[in-house]
Amino acid sequence: MKRNRRVKILATLGPASSSEEMIRSLHEAGADVFRINMSHADHDLMRTLVARIRKVEADVGRPIGILADLQGPKLRVGRFAEGKVSLKIGQTFTLDDNPEPGNAERVYLPHPEILEAVEVGHRLLIDDGRLQLECVATDKTRIECKVVAGDTISDRKGVSLPDTTLQVGALTDKDRADLDAVLAADVDWVALSFIQRPDDLAEARKIARGRAWLLAKVEKPQAVDRLDEIIELSDAIMVARGDLGVELPLEAVPGIQKRITRACRRAGKPVVVATQMLESMISAPVPTRAEVSDVSIAVYEGADAIMLSAESAAGQYPIDAVATMDRIAQRVEKDPLYPGIIFAQRPEPEATGADAVSLAARQMAETLGVSAIVTYTATGTTGLRTARERPQIAILALCPVTQTARRLSLVWGLHCVITEDAQDLDDMVDRACRISVEEKYGRAGDRIIVTAGVPLRTPGATNMLRIAYIGSDGLSAV
Ligand code: PGA
Ligand code: MN
Repeated sequence: MKRNRRVKILATLGPASSSEEMIRSLHEAGADVFRINMSHADHDLMRTLVARIRKVEADVGRPIGILADLQGPKLRVGRFAEGKVSLKIGQTFTLDDNPEPGNAERVYLPHPEILEAVEVGHRLLIDDGRLQLECVATDKTRIECKVVAGDTISDRKGVSLPDTTLQVGALTDKDRADLDAVLAADVDWVALSFIQRPDDLAEARKIARGRAWLLAKVEKPQAVDRLDEIIELSDAIMVARGDLGVELPLEAVPGIQKRITRACRRAGKPVVVATQMLESMISAPVPTRAEVSDVSIAVYEGADAIMLSAESAAGQYPIDAVATMDRIAQRVEKDPLYPGIIFAQRPEPEATGADAVSLAARQMAETLGVSAIVTYTATGTTGLRTARERPQIAILALCPVTQTARRLSLVWGLHCVITEDAQDLDDMVDRACRISVEEKYGRAGDRIIVTAGVPLRTPGATNMLRIAYIGSDGLSAV
């Protein structure tokens, strides 16, 4: 199965899309990677979904990526005697360490670390910002607030703290248990939510020990402030616009999206643009014009992947949502303006063999008009660096390691194929020709560019570039 676009589609699974048939249909419609949201899936459900995705993967014969998204330190207030209370702007409302049910004056906040850290003047945004409080006094056991906006608070609503850096790590006890379970289930990517600082990646990195790649969700202003260091320590980044838009003014988010996308392209780390991309398709079979435009902006910027959340997880039109994204992406990538826009942000190569070969491969491929760049990538590095060049020519990533192919399914422009290692140079070129034909990326008489590291099986040693002709037998003609 060949996709007619370079950007990838990441679809979140949920009640609307948990069956094997739905997963198959979503993949057929264009989903390249599936997200399992550990805020909602227990371990049994997670394992069931992983098994269903792997079944579909085996049936269609294409590597499919699985991203397990850890909940992270999502903060919530306690419960109310009546379930909810009404508040008035200007009144005082207190969050404290008393587990008794709440009332119109106070509620329990079961997070001592917030009671510790909030200072006078800090904002507390409840229920995705629908209720805004500002701290007017605190003694480390209670935060006395003034109601600034909104009129209701109810049981277990989320609390966002845009002004407060919390002394908590990014992994909660639930996250640690979830992380062990998703690693044991052999997922390809793990997403970390609400990270604040580069250190927040360290514990997960230590636990994962290379068994999955780590995606950092940028959804707090503190993470935006330390973006470059966080990108450096992550394998991929998500522009998590849902929570970013709660913690920062909404009008700040588009600029941050551009900044993050560009920084990731510079670093050669995959970047996912997420949340509300086709929100109205939760309950309508067609998107709004504004949503189509929003998806197109991410594609024009050269994001690696665009994501569906509730649209595919809980909406009425999951398949239409994926198909709509697919159509928008194809159209944008065919726009004559697209290459110019995307290439305007092309980063300079770093002084490495992999970057020199990737740059040369792109230039030769475009100069000669070859049918594909075929890159051997065991660890995934050569694939990532080739994609970083954003070549106009298709890229086939040949992976001797299944997990590499699955991980790279999130990456811009890479059509990944699992294949055993080549025996020698001739076999490598023959194999590249044969797979190009099989995967419909080339025909007899076409030229391809092959890149690899020689000697074979030496990780991180990309040093070879070859122009090959596909002969009439589908093998290399020269
Ligand atoms: P979520 O993360 O869907 O897990 O909240 C994405 C976002 O906040 O945008
Ligand atoms: Mn979020």
